[in-house]
Amino acid sequence: MSEEIYEGVPRSKIPWYPTIDYSKCIGCGSCVDYCTAGGFGVYALEERDGKKRPIVKNPYNCIVFCRGCEDKEVCPVGAISHPSEEEIQKIIENYQKNSVI
Ligand code: SF4
Ligand code: SF4
Repeated sequence: MSEEIYEGVPRSKIPWYPTIDYSKCIGCGSCVDYCTAGGFGVYALEERDGKKRPIVKNPYNCIVFCRGCEDKEVCPVGAISHPSEEEIQKIIENYQKNSVI
């Protein structure tokens, strides 16, 4: 399988994916439904100690610079975050500069 490329950079070199704050998460599963409906499949729902909780199962399926699941309409408790766009943009630009032939 060929590797996915974003702006000339292998997707696996771009650390853009969601992080869940489990101290806030209420296990509603709406982030899982939302991302699955979009066809990205970043999340999976696991059951632990009788409680449902989302896990970031396929982090590199996350669309670079998408923050859809962070929206209050999706996650009502603000438990989802992503890195800063500036940091990720720098990583992308550094990779592009250093990989010029
Ligand atoms: S930011 Fe977008 S692609 Fe990434 S996990 Fe959330 S909904 Fe899925
Ligand atoms: S939408 Fe937010 S509260 Fe609901 S399962 Fe996902 S992270 Fe937890």
